[in-house]
Amino acid sequence: MRSDFDVVIVGAGAAGLAAADRLAGSGLEAVVVEARGRIGGRAETVQLASAGDPAATFPVDRGCGWLHSADINPLVPLIEAAGFVLDRTPAAWQRPAEERHFPVAEQRRFAEAVDAFEARVDAAAATGVDRPAAELLEPGNRWNPLLDAISSYHNGAEFERVSLLDYAAYQDTEVNYRVRDGYGAALARLAASANVILHCPVTAIDHGGRTVVIETARGRLSARAVIVAVPTPHIAEARIRITPALPAKVEAAGHLPLGLANKAFIGLLAPEAFAVGARFLGDIHRTETASYHVRPFGRPYIEAYVGGRNARALEAAGEGALIAFALDELRSLLGADVVRDFRPLAETGWARDPHALGGYSHALPMHAGARGVLAEPIDGRLFWAGEATHPVAFSTAHGAWLSGRRAAEEALAALLS
Ligand SMILES: Cc1cc2nc3c(=O)[nH]c(=O)nc-3n(C[C@H](O)[C@H](O)[C@H](O)COP(=O)(O)OP(=O)(O)OC[C@H]3O[C@@H](n4cnc5c(N)ncnc54)[C@H](O)[C@@H]3O)c2cc1C
Repeated sequence: MRSDFDVVIVGAGAAGLAAADRLAGSGLEAVVVEARGRIGGRAETVQLASAGDPAATFPVDRGCGWLHSADINPLVPLIEAAGFVLDRTPAAWQRPAEERHFPVAEQRRFAEAVDAFEARVDAAAATGVDRPAAELLEPGNRWNPLLDAISSYHNGAEFERVSLLDYAAYQDTEVNYRVRDGYGAALARLAASANVILHCPVTAIDHGGRTVVIETARGRLSARAVIVAVPTPHIAEARIRITPALPAKVEAAGHLPLGLANKAFIGLLAPEAFAVGARFLGDIHRTETASYHVRPFGRPYIEAYVGGRNARALEAAGEGALIAFALDELRSLLGADVVRDFRPLAETGWARDPHALGGYSHALPMHAGARGVLAEPIDGRLFWAGEATHPVAFSTAHGAWLSGRRAAEEALAALLS
């Protein structure tokens, strides 16, 4: 393969693909090198066979599924222009949960507890002093376990591990859309013409010489600039060896660990028994509970979502543990008779995925500044992208996309000046 480029982009997730898209037509020769045999990273749509009719399949997103902050999300117009249909109905978690599992009066009280917590977060963040977001939970409040469950879905971690300032900085316009044929499929379509080398993990980057040298499993590349767009554990754990060493980057990446979120997909033999788009929580009194979304797009399955410590423990327990957990919760909610018609379809394991190593980033308490440190270019030739580098849209696919564009613009400015 060709070995000399203007820009080598490491990682073909949303960030790396956005960087390639921005550099296309700029006159600079760019290539994306990707460890996996596919593009998209944590954006991945797969087809599942229906439990009732194995010949019928439907798409599900193993990673990102929602276009968050959709009214300002730059991917919305791009995805629509690429011919994908968006669903604009309110997100599952923005609609009331099923009354029989969570009485409406109780849902109202919980919503008040959420509002009060968020108000305390905003007031505390205004002081500019960082601390664990858990310190804003009211001691003894009966809704704390459920608030932490929501944190485990939102941050991939419980509030005690989450920086208050980072949490408060996240930008959420509360408009959320979905892609009918899959967010991962849409991103892959947007990047269809990108120059990507698959099955090509980068093992080392040497920026000590005149050009940057990139060691890969398929040989050595050189470039005038590199855009690093891999998940933070790869930097924090020096899975890519960078010389001369960059201790500030390693430290910043370590302060931005990936929380964990996983999904289980459970097929329904008799889907008509359930309302399309219903949602409920497994146990409103526990942090270790899943959120269930029933028949998304009218398809015959339930999507279970777990996060934080619960997701980690279930992954550690081995393949199948997440589905078994979800089926147990569903059994106690709906009854064994109903669950007899449920069939395990698939589950994710993002922490054991060697190229992801987790779900999405959160800043550890006292380290909200790490995102800025990680994003800072080095010597006008090492640039940094990935969801963890975005100041306000971290942990999302559109934040990753925006970070890739930003890194590409920095590279363009440096190389064309
Ligand atoms: C369960 C789950 C649900 C989610 N839900 C949503 C959602 O609803 N909405 C939303 O906006 N976001 C969501 N996200 C987050 C979103 O998927 C990510 O923030 C985003 O996709 C990250 O993009 P990225 O480019 O930063 O990283 P990645 O997508 O991880 O891309 C990095 C790429 O680098 C590659 N790589 C790693 N190491 C090397 C190496 N050594 N050499 C070469 N390549 C390497 C990886 O294989 C990968 O392809 C979810 C994530 C998960 C896991």
